[in-house]
Amino acid sequence: MEKQTTTIENQTSSEKEEEPPGKSAPRSDIEEDPPDSRASNRYRFFGHISESNWNDWKWHFRNRINTIERLNEFVPLSATEKAQLRLVIRRYPLSITPYYLSLINPDDPDDPIRKQAVPSVLEITMSCMGLEDPLAEKEDSVVPGLVHRYPDRALMVLSDICAMLCRHCTRKREWRHGGWVRPDNEIEAMLEYLQQNKNIRDVIISGGDPLTFSTHRLESIISKIRRIKHIEIIRIGTRFPVVLPQRIDNELCAMLSKYSPIWLNTHFNHPNEITPEAAEACDRLLRSGIPVNNQSVLLRGVNDSVETMLKLCQSLLRIKVRPYYLFQCDEVQGTEHLRTPVEAGVKIIEGMRGFTSGLAIPTYVVDLPGGGGKVPLQPNYVLSQTREELILRNYEGRLFNYRNPDSSNLPGNGHRNGRRISSNSRRSSYDSRQLVLPAGVKK
Ligand code: SF4
Repeated sequence: MEKQTTTIENQTSSEKEEEPPGKSAPRSDIEEDPPDSRASNRYRFFGHISESNWNDWKWHFRNRINTIERLNEFVPLSATEKAQLRLVIRRYPLSITPYYLSLINPDDPDDPIRKQAVPSVLEITMSCMGLEDPLAEKEDSVVPGLVHRYPDRALMVLSDICAMLCRHCTRKREWRHGGWVRPDNEIEAMLEYLQQNKNIRDVIISGGDPLTFSTHRLESIISKIRRIKHIEIIRIGTRFPVVLPQRIDNELCAMLSKYSPIWLNTHFNHPNEITPEAAEACDRLLRSGIPVNNQSVLLRGVNDSVETMLKLCQSLLRIKVRPYYLFQCDEVQGTEHLRTPVEAGVKIIEGMRGFTSGLAIPTYVVDLPGGGGKVPLQPNYVLSQTREELILRNYEGRLFNYRNPDSSNLPGNGHRNGRRISSNSRRSSYDSRQLVLPAGVKK
């Protein structure tokens, strides 16, 4: 792997803009009152930044907040906190875009955006819990950076650089290596593997965040994947629409639209992230023919309530983004303080089902440690099941009998390959004797 301090244009920290943060623009520079507290933060902290810089993703990328001293200019920290966080970022670095920082309420230590971006001392004090690589991605790597776990899909990890370092990241283990990007020869080896393995029809480009690559470099990789005949779809995993939506510019969308079908999976976790800028970025992608799905991570104190998750998913539908997955936070070292019990996720789904459109309900999944793959979890609505009948519970808790059609009664059915199916082989795999029933419900 190649080490590199930044990707976009090899800028160095000395090229950072000199404007001091935290100074307000003179009132005459502000055309109108900001519409909400988020916008006020932008004017409070970055009012001196010109519109053209604020709308330029490279400006945000160059000016990411990555020291405790700079963070303290926006988010007040006590002397103890500063000392603790200096220790934390030696192990788990800090990187926040000015845009994402402007979404934080600096006066609220429990702000849900802050929890995703600002380090916590718990990252190191609880780091004995969890695993470095819970999904065993290294073991499933067939060539460096290419994970081939499922038969028809493969994951390309192109770099470990992100616009923001999310405190709950599954690939947190990579941060200590500094910013690296996959060298060309390793990317060629991945492409060669994809070319040789004709069962792979779906390639996911991820990282780090692949949109840290310049549009030109990204195109050179995507165009080569597109030339492989058996690859039907390309998916891009990126958090840019959330943490730096300015990146989703016309040039990027025009490039992506040339290599359709491309799907984009992003990662909104809280309704406060759905800003006009984020909505515009998603709209631009959609208008370019790129469907956008969302993969949230269930995080303690961020989105672990029915109310927040309902608001998030309904807001996503309003910006035409499909809530796709809600992930149980992986068992990653340095994230234990953000993890919730699995029951919390099931209860959230139960609190949503029936109370809002099914379109707004993501699939809650646990990604199994050791590379076991994703397991969907949902509330138990089947209270008992026999070959003839099921007892089902609806969203209000009312019980219903449901007749189970027996296809063997149909003329011509009940035989397979000329042999009658034995009664055992026709027994439902949901035999009521195998069910775990809620207290008070009899089989
Ligand atoms: S954008 Fe994704 S890969 Fe990057 S730090 Fe956040 S969760 Fe991790």
